[in-house]
Amino acid sequence: MSVTAIKGMNDVLPGVVETWQFLEQSARDVFGLYGFSEIRTPIAEKTELFCRSIGETTDIVEKEMYTFSDKSENSLTLRPEGTAPVMRSFIQNRLHNLDPVSKLYYMGPMFRYERPQKGRYRQFHQIGVEVVGVEDAKIDAQVLAMLHQYFVRIEIDSVSLQINSLGCPECRPGYRQELINYLESRLDSLCGECQRRYQTNPLRVLDCKAQGCQAATVDAPSVLDHLCSPCRDHFAQVKNYLEALHIPFEVNARMVRGLDYYVRTTFELVTDQLGSQNAVAAGGRYDGLVESLGGPALPGIGFAIGLERLVLMKGEQRITAASPQLFIAALGKEAADRAFILMSQLQAAGVRTEMDYMGKSLKAQMRRANKFNAAFTLILGEEELQSGRAQLKDMSDSSQSSVVLDTLVATLTKKFG
Ligand code: ATP
Ligand code: MG
Repeated sequence: MSVTAIKGMNDVLPGVVETWQFLEQSARDVFGLYGFSEIRTPIAEKTELFCRSIGETTDIVEKEMYTFSDKSENSLTLRPEGTAPVMRSFIQNRLHNLDPVSKLYYMGPMFRYERPQKGRYRQFHQIGVEVVGVEDAKIDAQVLAMLHQYFVRIEIDSVSLQINSLGCPECRPGYRQELINYLESRLDSLCGECQRRYQTNPLRVLDCKAQGCQAATVDAPSVLDHLCSPCRDHFAQVKNYLEALHIPFEVNARMVRGLDYYVRTTFELVTDQLGSQNAVAAGGRYDGLVESLGGPALPGIGFAIGLERLVLMKGEQRITAASPQLFIAALGKEAADRAFILMSQLQAAGVRTEMDYMGKSLKAQMRRANKFNAAFTLILGEEELQSGRAQLKDMSDSSQSSVVLDTLVATLTKKFG
Protein backbone atom coordinates (compact mmCIF):
# COMPACT_ATOMS: atom_id res chain seq x y z
CA MET A 1 0.00 0.00 0.00
CA SER A 2 1.24 3.49 -0.79
CA VAL A 3 2.09 5.91 1.99
CA THR A 4 -0.50 8.56 2.78
CA ALA A 5 -0.26 11.90 4.58
CA ILE A 6 -0.59 12.20 8.36
CA LYS A 7 -4.19 12.49 9.58
CA GLY A 8 -5.22 16.12 9.93
CA MET A 9 -2.34 17.38 7.77
CA ASN A 10 -3.37 18.39 4.28
CA ASP A 11 -1.85 18.98 0.89
CA VAL A 12 -2.71 22.22 -0.84
CA LEU A 13 -3.09 21.39 -4.51
CA PRO A 14 -3.07 23.48 -7.68
CA GLY A 15 -6.57 24.83 -8.18
CA VAL A 16 -6.88 25.69 -4.49
CA VAL A 17 -3.39 27.02 -3.90
CA GLU A 18 -4.25 30.11 -5.95
CA THR A 19 -6.75 31.08 -3.25
CA TRP A 20 -4.02 30.63 -0.62
CA GLN A 21 -1.63 32.77 -2.61
CA PHE A 22 -4.27 35.47 -2.98
CA LEU A 23 -4.99 35.45 0.76
CA GLU A 24 -1.28 35.56 1.60
CA GLN A 25 -0.45 38.27 -0.92
CA SER A 26 -3.38 40.39 0.24
CA ALA A 27 -2.01 40.17 3.79
CA ARG A 28 1.43 41.30 2.65
CA ASP A 29 -0.13 44.20 0.76
CA VAL A 30 -2.47 45.37 3.51
CA PHE A 31 -0.05 44.88 6.41
CA GLY A 32 2.68 46.65 4.41
CA LEU A 33 0.40 49.68 4.12
CA TYR A 34 0.20 49.83 7.91
CA GLY A 35 3.98 49.63 8.33
CA PHE A 36 4.32 45.98 9.34
CA SER A 37 7.38 43.85 8.46
CA GLU A 38 7.46 40.09 8.12
CA ILE A 39 9.26 37.92 10.66
CA ARG A 40 9.98 34.20 10.16
CA THR A 41 10.74 31.97 13.09
CA PRO A 42 11.53 28.23 13.20
CA ILE A 43 8.73 25.69 13.11
CA ALA A 44 9.93 24.07 16.36
CA GLU A 45 10.89 25.68 19.66
CA LYS A 46 11.97 24.48 23.09
CA THR A 47 8.83 23.09 24.77
CA GLU A 48 9.37 25.34 27.77
CA LEU A 49 8.61 28.45 25.67
CA PHE A 50 5.00 27.40 25.14
CA CYS A 51 4.45 26.11 28.68
CA ARG A 52 5.65 29.40 30.12
CA SER A 53 3.68 31.66 27.80
CA ILE A 54 0.44 29.94 26.77
CA GLY A 55 -0.20 28.57 30.26
CA GLU A 56 0.01 25.10 31.82
CA THR A 57 -3.74 24.72 32.27
CA THR A 58 -4.81 25.71 28.76
CA ASP A 59 -6.16 23.24 26.21
CA ILE A 60 -3.15 23.81 24.00
CA VAL A 61 -0.53 22.97 26.60
CA GLU A 62 -2.57 20.28 28.38
CA LYS A 63 -3.47 18.22 25.35
CA GLU A 64 -2.78 19.70 21.94
CA MET A 65 0.99 20.04 21.65
CA TYR A 66 3.19 18.06 19.29
CA THR A 67 6.03 17.52 21.72
CA PHE A 68 8.93 15.17 21.09
CA SER A 69 12.50 14.53 22.16
CA ASP A 70 15.28 14.98 19.65
CA LYS A 71 18.31 12.67 19.58
CA SER A 72 19.95 14.66 22.39
CA GLU A 73 16.85 14.28 24.57
CA ASN A 74 15.87 17.95 24.27
CA SER A 75 12.13 18.45 24.53
CA LEU A 76 10.98 20.26 21.40
CA THR A 77 7.49 21.29 20.32
CA LEU A 78 6.11 22.06 16.89
CA ARG A 79 4.74 25.56 17.34
CA PRO A 80 1.01 25.55 18.20
CA GLU A 81 0.77 29.32 17.71
CA GLY A 82 2.88 32.24 16.58
CA THR A 83 2.96 34.81 19.37
CA ALA A 84 5.32 33.01 21.76
CA PRO A 85 7.95 32.29 19.06
CA VAL A 86 7.78 35.87 17.79
CA MET A 87 8.23 37.23 21.32
CA ARG A 88 11.10 34.80 21.92
CA SER A 89 12.77 36.10 18.76
CA PHE A 90 11.96 39.72 19.64
CA ILE A 91 13.73 39.35 22.98
CA GLN A 92 16.63 37.28 21.69
CA ASN A 93 17.35 39.71 18.84
CA ARG A 94 16.66 42.81 20.97
CA LEU A 95 14.31 44.25 18.40
CA HIS A 96 13.24 46.95 20.89
CA ASN A 97 16.70 48.49 20.44
CA LEU A 98 16.01 49.06 16.75
CA ASP A 99 12.75 50.91 17.30
CA PRO A 100 10.50 51.54 20.30
CA VAL A 101 7.54 50.18 18.31
CA SER A 102 7.81 46.84 16.53
CA LYS A 103 5.09 45.96 14.03
CA LEU A 104 5.54 42.41 12.85
CA TYR A 105 3.58 39.85 10.88
CA TYR A 106 4.11 36.17 10.17
CA MET A 107 2.45 33.44 8.18
CA GLY A 108 2.97 29.73 8.23
CA PRO A 109 1.99 26.33 9.61
CA MET A 110 1.00 25.70 13.22
CA PHE A 111 0.48 22.29 14.84
CA ARG A 112 -2.11 21.14 17.35
CA TYR A 113 -3.14 17.61 18.19
CA GLU A 114 -6.89 18.12 17.80
CA ARG A 115 -9.70 15.95 16.44
CA PRO A 116 -9.63 16.70 12.71
CA GLN A 117 -12.91 17.96 11.22
CA LYS A 118 -14.02 20.66 8.84
CA GLY A 119 -12.09 23.82 9.69
CA ARG A 120 -9.99 22.04 12.34
CA TYR A 121 -6.76 20.31 11.43
CA ARG A 122 -3.53 19.14 13.05
CA GLN A 123 -1.35 21.17 10.76
CA PHE A 124 -3.08 24.44 9.98
CA HIS A 125 -1.89 27.84 8.88
CA GLN A 126 -2.10 31.23 10.45
CA ILE A 127 -1.43 34.75 9.32
CA GLY A 128 -0.71 36.78 12.40
CA VAL A 129 0.49 40.19 13.50
CA GLU A 130 2.11 41.48 16.67
CA VAL A 131 2.77 45.04 17.84
CA VAL A 132 5.18 45.46 20.73
CA GLY A 133 5.81 48.70 22.56
CA VAL A 134 2.51 50.60 22.66
CA GLU A 135 -0.01 50.64 25.48
CA ASP A 136 -2.18 53.38 23.99
CA ALA A 137 -5.65 52.32 22.86
CA LYS A 138 -4.94 53.81 19.45
CA ILE A 139 -2.85 50.76 18.60
CA ASP A 140 -5.67 48.39 19.63
CA ALA A 141 -7.96 50.27 17.28
CA GLN A 142 -5.39 50.34 14.53
CA VAL A 143 -4.75 46.61 14.71
CA LEU A 144 -8.51 46.02 14.52
CA ALA A 145 -8.84 48.51 11.66
CA MET A 146 -6.12 46.64 9.78
CA LEU A 147 -7.86 43.32 10.39
CA HIS A 148 -11.09 44.88 9.12
CA GLN A 149 -9.28 46.28 6.07
CA TYR A 150 -7.82 42.87 5.31
CA PHE A 151 -11.30 41.38 5.14
CA VAL A 152 -12.41 44.24 2.90
CA ARG A 153 -9.47 43.47 0.61
CA ILE A 154 -10.18 39.74 0.39
CA GLU A 155 -13.89 40.46 -0.05
CA ILE A 156 -15.23 38.43 2.86
CA ASP A 157 -17.93 40.41 4.58
CA SER A 158 -19.85 37.70 6.42
CA VAL A 159 -17.82 38.16 9.61
CA SER A 160 -18.47 40.17 12.72
CA LEU A 161 -16.04 41.57 15.22
CA GLN A 162 -16.60 40.81 18.90
CA ILE A 163 -14.51 42.55 21.51
CA ASN A 164 -14.08 42.28 25.24
CA SER A 165 -11.72 43.33 27.98
CA LEU A 166 -10.25 40.70 30.28
CA GLY A 167 -8.82 43.19 32.74
CA CYS A 168 -5.28 43.06 34.07
CA PRO A 169 -3.34 41.50 36.97
CA GLU A 170 -4.83 44.24 39.19
CA CYS A 171 -8.51 43.55 38.57
CA ARG A 172 -8.76 40.05 37.11
CA PRO A 173 -7.91 38.04 40.25
CA GLY A 174 -10.91 39.58 42.08
CA TYR A 175 -13.18 38.78 39.16
CA ARG A 176 -11.74 35.31 38.85
CA GLN A 177 -12.48 34.54 42.50
CA GLU A 178 -16.01 35.86 42.19
CA LEU A 179 -16.55 33.68 39.13
CA ILE A 180 -15.17 30.62 40.96
CA ASN A 181 -17.61 31.26 43.83
CA TYR A 182 -20.46 31.58 41.35
CA LEU A 183 -19.50 28.35 39.54
CA GLU A 184 -19.09 26.50 42.82
CA SER A 185 -22.77 27.07 43.58
CA ARG A 186 -23.74 25.53 40.23
CA LEU A 187 -21.22 22.71 39.90
CA ASP A 188 -23.89 20.08 39.24
CA SER A 189 -24.95 21.78 36.02
CA LEU A 190 -21.42 21.94 34.56
CA CYS A 191 -19.93 19.38 32.18
CA GLY A 192 -17.20 17.06 33.47
CA GLU A 193 -14.45 19.08 31.85
CA CYS A 194 -15.64 22.31 33.47
CA GLN A 195 -16.12 20.63 36.85
CA ARG A 196 -12.46 19.72 36.59
CA ARG A 197 -11.19 23.11 35.42
CA TYR A 198 -13.48 25.62 37.09
CA GLN A 199 -10.85 26.42 39.70
CA THR A 200 -7.74 26.37 37.53
CA ASN A 201 -9.27 28.11 34.52
CA PRO A 202 -12.71 29.44 35.47
CA LEU A 203 -12.98 31.87 32.55
CA ARG A 204 -12.92 28.96 30.14
CA VAL A 205 -16.28 27.79 31.51
CA LEU A 206 -17.90 30.89 30.00
CA ASP A 207 -16.63 29.74 26.63
CA CYS A 208 -17.70 26.09 26.98
CA LYS A 209 -19.96 24.85 24.22
CA ALA A 210 -21.86 22.38 26.45
CA GLN A 211 -25.49 23.44 26.90
CA GLY A 212 -25.48 22.89 30.64
CA CYS A 213 -22.48 25.17 31.07
CA GLN A 214 -24.02 27.84 28.90
CA ALA A 215 -27.29 27.75 30.80
CA ALA A 216 -25.53 27.72 34.17
CA THR A 217 -23.49 30.81 33.32
CA VAL A 218 -26.22 33.04 31.87
CA ASP A 219 -26.21 35.15 35.04
CA ALA A 220 -22.51 34.75 35.80
CA PRO A 221 -20.70 37.90 36.94
CA SER A 222 -19.40 39.90 33.99
CA VAL A 223 -15.74 40.74 33.67
CA LEU A 224 -16.70 44.19 32.40
CA ASP A 225 -18.30 45.03 35.77
CA HIS A 226 -15.02 44.25 37.53
CA LEU A 227 -12.48 46.22 35.52
CA CYS A 228 -10.22 48.59 37.46
CA SER A 229 -10.44 52.17 36.37
CA PRO A 230 -7.34 52.18 34.06
CA CYS A 231 -8.70 49.05 32.29
CA ARG A 232 -12.16 50.60 32.08
CA ASP A 233 -10.73 53.78 30.52
CA HIS A 234 -8.58 51.83 28.11
CA PHE A 235 -11.54 49.77 26.92
CA ALA A 236 -13.70 52.89 26.56
CA GLN A 237 -11.00 54.48 24.40
CA VAL A 238 -10.70 51.40 22.19
CA LYS A 239 -14.46 51.53 21.59
CA ASN A 240 -14.35 55.28 20.90
CA TYR A 241 -11.58 54.94 18.35
CA LEU A 242 -13.37 52.05 16.63
CA GLU A 243 -16.50 54.16 16.38
CA ALA A 244 -14.49 57.09 15.02
CA LEU A 245 -13.05 54.78 12.36
CA HIS A 246 -16.50 53.33 11.55
CA ILE A 247 -15.36 49.79 12.34
CA PRO A 248 -18.45 47.80 13.31
CA PHE A 249 -18.11 45.72 16.50
CA GLU A 250 -20.10 44.11 19.27
CA VAL A 251 -19.08 43.83 22.90
CA ASN A 252 -19.23 40.22 24.08
CA ALA A 253 -18.50 40.08 27.80
CA ARG A 254 -18.45 36.26 27.73
CA MET A 255 -15.64 36.05 25.23
CA VAL A 256 -12.47 34.66 26.78
CA ARG A 257 -9.39 33.42 25.04
CA GLY A 258 -7.80 30.00 25.39
CA LEU A 259 -4.35 31.36 26.18
CA ASP A 260 -3.30 32.69 29.56
CA TYR A 261 -1.26 35.65 28.41
CA TYR A 262 -4.14 37.85 27.31
CA VAL A 263 -5.06 41.01 29.25
CA ARG A 264 -7.39 43.92 28.51
CA THR A 265 -8.59 44.04 24.90
CA THR A 266 -9.44 40.66 23.40
CA PHE A 267 -11.37 40.01 20.22
CA GLU A 268 -12.61 37.46 17.75
CA LEU A 269 -13.84 37.67 14.22
CA VAL A 270 -16.68 35.18 13.91
CA THR A 271 -18.78 33.85 11.07
CA ASP A 272 -21.94 31.80 10.89
CA GLN A 273 -20.75 30.04 7.74
CA LEU A 274 -18.47 27.42 9.25
CA GLY A 275 -20.65 25.60 11.78
CA SER A 276 -19.01 25.25 15.16
CA GLN A 277 -15.60 26.32 13.83
CA ASN A 278 -16.91 29.87 13.89
CA ALA A 279 -13.78 31.87 14.72
CA VAL A 280 -11.80 32.99 11.70
CA ALA A 281 -9.43 35.26 13.59
CA ALA A 282 -8.69 35.98 17.22
CA GLY A 283 -6.33 37.98 19.33
CA GLY A 284 -5.77 40.51 22.03
CA ARG A 285 -3.37 42.29 24.31
CA TYR A 286 -0.57 40.50 26.12
CA ASP A 287 1.09 43.27 28.11
CA GLY A 288 2.97 41.07 30.57
CA LEU A 289 4.18 38.42 28.14
CA VAL A 290 7.47 39.90 26.94
CA GLU A 291 8.63 40.52 30.49
CA SER A 292 7.53 37.08 31.69
CA LEU A 293 9.70 35.55 28.95
CA GLY A 294 12.74 37.42 30.22
CA GLY A 295 12.50 40.53 28.05
CA PRO A 296 11.86 44.19 28.84
CA ALA A 297 8.49 45.20 30.31
CA LEU A 298 6.84 46.12 27.02
CA PRO A 299 3.16 45.86 26.17
CA GLY A 300 1.98 43.95 23.13
CA ILE A 301 -1.07 43.17 21.07
CA GLY A 302 -1.74 40.88 18.14
CA PHE A 303 -4.07 38.54 16.31
CA ALA A 304 -3.97 35.39 14.23
CA ILE A 305 -6.18 34.52 11.29
CA GLY A 306 -6.91 30.87 10.47
CA LEU A 307 -6.09 30.49 6.80
CA GLU A 308 -7.93 27.21 6.18
CA ARG A 309 -11.15 28.76 7.45
CA LEU A 310 -10.71 31.69 5.07
CA VAL A 311 -10.12 29.32 2.19
CA LEU A 312 -13.32 27.44 3.10
CA MET A 313 -15.21 30.73 3.11
CA LYS A 314 -13.79 31.85 -0.22
CA GLY A 315 -14.84 28.56 -1.80
CA GLU A 316 -12.33 26.54 -3.76
CA GLN A 317 -13.12 27.87 -7.21
CA ARG A 318 -13.01 31.59 -6.72
CA ILE A 319 -9.43 32.32 -7.68
CA THR A 320 -7.83 30.62 -10.65
CA ALA A 321 -4.28 30.54 -11.94
CA ALA A 322 -3.45 33.03 -14.70
CA SER A 323 -3.99 31.32 -18.05
CA PRO A 324 -1.36 31.41 -20.80
CA GLN A 325 -1.33 34.44 -23.05
CA LEU A 326 -0.17 32.34 -25.97
CA PHE A 327 -0.37 28.70 -26.98
CA ILE A 328 1.88 27.67 -29.86
CA ALA A 329 0.62 24.68 -31.81
CA ALA A 330 3.36 23.09 -33.94
CA LEU A 331 3.18 20.47 -36.70
CA GLY A 332 6.23 18.36 -37.31
CA LYS A 333 9.57 18.14 -35.56
CA GLU A 334 11.15 21.21 -37.13
CA ALA A 335 8.17 23.41 -36.26
CA ALA A 336 8.06 21.99 -32.75
CA ASP A 337 11.74 22.87 -32.26
CA ARG A 338 11.12 26.42 -33.48
CA ALA A 339 8.03 26.68 -31.25
CA PHE A 340 10.08 25.48 -28.31
CA ILE A 341 12.75 28.19 -28.85
CA LEU A 342 10.08 30.85 -29.35
CA MET A 343 8.22 29.74 -26.24
CA SER A 344 11.38 29.87 -24.14
CA GLN A 345 12.23 33.36 -25.42
CA LEU A 346 8.70 34.57 -24.76
CA GLN A 347 8.67 33.14 -21.23
CA ALA A 348 12.02 34.80 -20.52
CA ALA A 349 10.54 38.06 -21.83
CA GLY A 350 7.53 37.76 -19.50
CA VAL A 351 4.84 36.33 -21.79
CA ARG A 352 2.99 33.29 -20.36
CA THR A 353 3.38 30.72 -23.15
CA GLU A 354 2.50 27.04 -23.50
CA MET A 355 2.94 24.35 -26.14
CA ASP A 356 2.47 20.63 -26.59
CA TYR A 357 5.40 18.34 -25.79
CA MET A 358 3.97 15.10 -27.09
CA GLY A 359 3.75 15.51 -30.88
CA LYS A 360 -0.07 15.51 -30.78
CA SER A 361 -2.34 16.21 -33.76
CA LEU A 362 -3.34 19.80 -34.50
CA LYS A 363 -6.85 19.06 -33.25
CA ALA A 364 -5.53 17.70 -29.96
CA GLN A 365 -3.23 20.70 -29.57
CA MET A 366 -6.11 23.12 -30.11
CA ARG A 367 -8.15 21.22 -27.51
CA ARG A 368 -5.30 21.75 -25.12
CA ALA A 369 -5.11 25.48 -25.96
CA ASN A 370 -8.81 25.69 -25.14
CA LYS A 371 -8.40 23.78 -21.92
CA PHE A 372 -5.66 26.20 -20.88
CA ASN A 373 -7.96 29.06 -21.87
CA ALA A 374 -5.06 30.62 -23.80
CA ALA A 375 -5.75 34.18 -24.98
CA PHE A 376 -4.01 33.71 -28.35
CA THR A 377 -2.81 30.79 -30.41
CA LEU A 378 -0.17 30.60 -33.09
CA ILE A 379 0.00 27.69 -35.53
CA LEU A 380 3.45 26.76 -36.85
CA GLY A 381 3.78 24.34 -39.78
CA GLU A 382 6.16 23.84 -42.66
CA GLU A 383 4.58 26.67 -44.64
CA GLU A 384 4.97 29.15 -41.79
CA LEU A 385 8.60 28.19 -41.26
CA GLN A 386 9.30 28.82 -44.95
CA SER A 387 7.46 32.14 -45.24
CA GLY A 388 8.67 33.31 -41.83
CA ARG A 389 5.12 34.44 -40.99
CA ALA A 390 2.26 32.90 -39.04
CA GLN A 391 -1.33 33.67 -38.08
CA LEU A 392 -1.87 34.88 -34.54
CA LYS A 393 -5.41 34.01 -33.53
CA ASP A 394 -7.27 35.95 -30.87
CA MET A 395 -9.31 33.25 -29.13
CA SER A 396 -11.86 35.73 -27.77
CA ASP A 397 -13.25 36.64 -31.21
CA SER A 398 -11.37 34.27 -33.57
CA SER A 399 -9.87 37.23 -35.45
CA GLN A 400 -6.47 36.58 -37.01
CA SER A 401 -3.46 38.73 -37.81
CA SER A 402 -0.24 37.88 -39.60
CA VAL A 403 2.95 38.13 -37.55
CA VAL A 404 6.64 37.87 -38.51
CA LEU A 405 8.31 35.02 -36.60
CA ASP A 406 11.67 36.75 -36.31
CA THR A 407 10.08 39.69 -34.48
CA LEU A 408 7.42 37.68 -32.63
CA VAL A 409 9.02 38.15 -29.21
CA ALA A 410 9.19 41.94 -29.61
CA THR A 411 5.65 42.09 -31.04
CA LEU A 412 4.12 40.03 -28.24
CA THR A 413 6.03 41.63 -25.37
CA LYS A 414 4.72 44.96 -26.65
CA LYS A 415 1.20 43.58 -26.98
CA PHE A 416 1.07 42.06 -23.49
CA GLY A 417 3.42 44.57 -21.83
P1 ATP B 1 -11.01 27.43 18.31
O1 ATP B 1 -11.88 28.03 19.34
O2 ATP B 1 -11.67 27.29 16.96
O3 ATP B 1 -10.33 26.18 18.77
P2 ATP B 1 -8.69 28.87 19.14
O4 ATP B 1 -9.22 29.81 20.16
O5 ATP B 1 -8.00 27.65 19.58
O6 ATP B 1 -9.84 28.51 18.07
P3 ATP B 1 -6.52 30.61 18.35
O7 ATP B 1 -5.50 29.87 19.11
O8 ATP B 1 -6.95 31.93 18.84
O9 ATP B 1 -7.78 29.68 18.11
O10 ATP B 1 -6.05 30.72 16.82
C1 ATP B 1 -6.51 31.75 15.93
C2 ATP B 1 -7.24 31.19 14.75
O11 ATP B 1 -6.56 30.07 14.19
C3 ATP B 1 -8.62 30.64 15.07
O12 ATP B 1 -9.54 31.69 15.11
C4 ATP B 1 -8.87 29.72 13.91
O13 ATP B 1 -9.31 30.43 12.77
C5 ATP B 1 -7.50 29.17 13.63
N1 ATP B 1 -7.32 27.82 14.21
C6 ATP B 1 -7.08 27.50 15.51
N2 ATP B 1 -6.93 26.17 15.65
C7 ATP B 1 -7.12 25.62 14.41
C8 ATP B 1 -7.09 24.28 13.90
N3 ATP B 1 -6.82 23.23 14.66
N4 ATP B 1 -7.33 24.12 12.57
C9 ATP B 1 -7.57 25.16 11.75
N5 ATP B 1 -7.61 26.44 12.19
C10 ATP B 1 -7.37 26.67 13.50
MG1 MG C 1 -8.63 25.67 19.90
